[in-house]
Amino acid sequence: MTHATPLISMIVIGLALAFILGVVANRLRISPLVGYLLAGIVIGPHTPGFVGDAHLAGELAELGVILLMFGVGLHFSFKELLSVRAIAIPGALVQIAVATLLGMGLAKVLGWPVQAGLVFGLALSVASTVVLLRALQERHLLNSERGRIAVGWLIVEDLVMVLTLVLLPAVAPLFTSGEKVSLGSLAVEFAMTVAKVAVFVIVMLVVGRRVIPAILHYVAHTASRELFRLAVLTLSLGVAFAAAHVFDVSFALGAFFAGMILSESELSQRAAQETLPLRDAFAVLFFVSVGMLFNPWVLIDSPAPLLATIAIIIIGKSAAAFAIVRLFGHPNETAAMISASLAQIGEFSFILVGLGIALGLMPTEGRDLVLAGALISIMLNPVCFLLADRLMREPKPVTAQPPAPEPEMPRAPAAKPIILVGFGRVGSAVLSALNRDEADVTIIEEREEAMADLAGRPGITTIQGNAVEGDLLTQANIANAGWLLVTAPDAFEAGQIVAQAKTMNPAISVVARAHSDAEVEHLKHYGADHVIMGEREIADAMVHAMATTSHG
Ligand code: AMP
Repeated sequence: MTHATPLISMIVIGLALAFILGVVANRLRISPLVGYLLAGIVIGPHTPGFVGDAHLAGELAELGVILLMFGVGLHFSFKELLSVRAIAIPGALVQIAVATLLGMGLAKVLGWPVQAGLVFGLALSVASTVVLLRALQERHLLNSERGRIAVGWLIVEDLVMVLTLVLLPAVAPLFTSGEKVSLGSLAVEFAMTVAKVAVFVIVMLVVGRRVIPAILHYVAHTASRELFRLAVLTLSLGVAFAAAHVFDVSFALGAFFAGMILSESELSQRAAQETLPLRDAFAVLFFVSVGMLFNPWVLIDSPAPLLATIAIIIIGKSAAAFAIVRLFGHPNETAAMISASLAQIGEFSFILVGLGIALGLMPTEGRDLVLAGALISIMLNPVCFLLADRLMREPKPVTAQPPAPEPEMPRAPAAKPIILVGFGRVGSAVLSALNRDEADVTIIEEREEAMADLAGRPGITTIQGNAVEGDLLTQANIANAGWLLVTAPDAFEAGQIVAQAKTMNPAISVVARAHSDAEVEHLKHYGADHVIMGEREIADAMVHAMATTSHG
């Protein structure tokens, strides 16, 4: 039966196994990614039992890449992309050069010809879109400056790979049959590719910028929710498809531009929400598909070359990235975060080695090394982030006021120290209301930009980070605080924050924010003393407005 429905089997069995092993990984306190990759190995051709269709898995994973990049584009404006070009372009180019040279060095030791080394090195030089974006999303870093640099860097790598994939077949005969390849025809090929990318970008900026938001506006105002969803999917997938088939640009770049164009319109938030569930499901299938390609025998057959490959991916590339980012004057933390996010390889590497082998440029052993290197570097990626965090993490109070429990300055009696979690629309309104009372306030907020707004404000201590993580509440001196105001909108995160706070200081009074009755219940269950449901407050205010407006 399963043979007759390979697509359904692949999706159902792939997702179900990924779910089960993801839950197990989660219980063991390791990243669920490891579970997804193991699920892939289990349904891969090298282990007994059900064997999924690797080709289908790859295509499904590509849908994940498209939706992820579309989502990233939605948070990016063209201006922001341009603003990181000064570091992203040289950074990506130097890093690619370093990784390629290291790969060529290893290939030489293994006795492979130069061209094999070149393909191998290039394959090791480019990071996986999915892994990078997932890592940034998980850490809420996508909208920070570091996140933008990492995404800009990724886009440059993507462009270099597009060029490589086009030029490789053109130069291959030079190595395989010793034929002369005319420099002129190579230059034409190169110019054509660059021109196609340029035309695509121009078409998107000139035509797409008008047409795409117009279509969405039309649908949003006239049609159903279902049609809006369909419109978002059609636009993201359609632009990516056209980019790949008409302009020879990668799916990922096409989707990124489709999203970026929408980012200027107010509908982007809604569009992003619509693609979330599909995006997450397909991103999981991406990891399953990587696991399926892994050949465990390579661990036994060539452990030393594999170790060297992994060292290039994780240590060589990171060191190069770290040095460049520092050279451009960014702080250690930014450099460490960017190095960690690029210390892996993925989809482009597979495509590149596949092409290299098809063109007779490299031995199949190279593919096994790249695939195993990808799997292991993806598994180790959370560890790289952990190391980067550990190495670089210092408490980050922005103001001069120390966060350590110091003998407190006598203040106005009402001003029991207040901890405010989240400094967005709600948090900033709370602060401006509070300031009048001269309260002693510590703010925990994860967005760098919000922190910048606060720098230098007297009497306010700021701590940057996710309040759920680590010991931020301790840093905020929760033991001595009188109030905890949680304005973070996610009820699950807020629940954890409330629970942690109440464990550390049972006497603290907690006020939290909710969007539904269920969330109110949830937060109260975790110990919140007051829960304010925004929607109910709005409704009350509306009725109040009606009651107090007289129609003369
Ligand atoms: P708003 O919905 O405009 O009030 O914004 C909510 C703010 O809370 C945003 O600035 C978020 O960055 C911030 N935020 C959300 N979750 C957390 C968290 N777990 N820790 C710290 N800040 C958070």
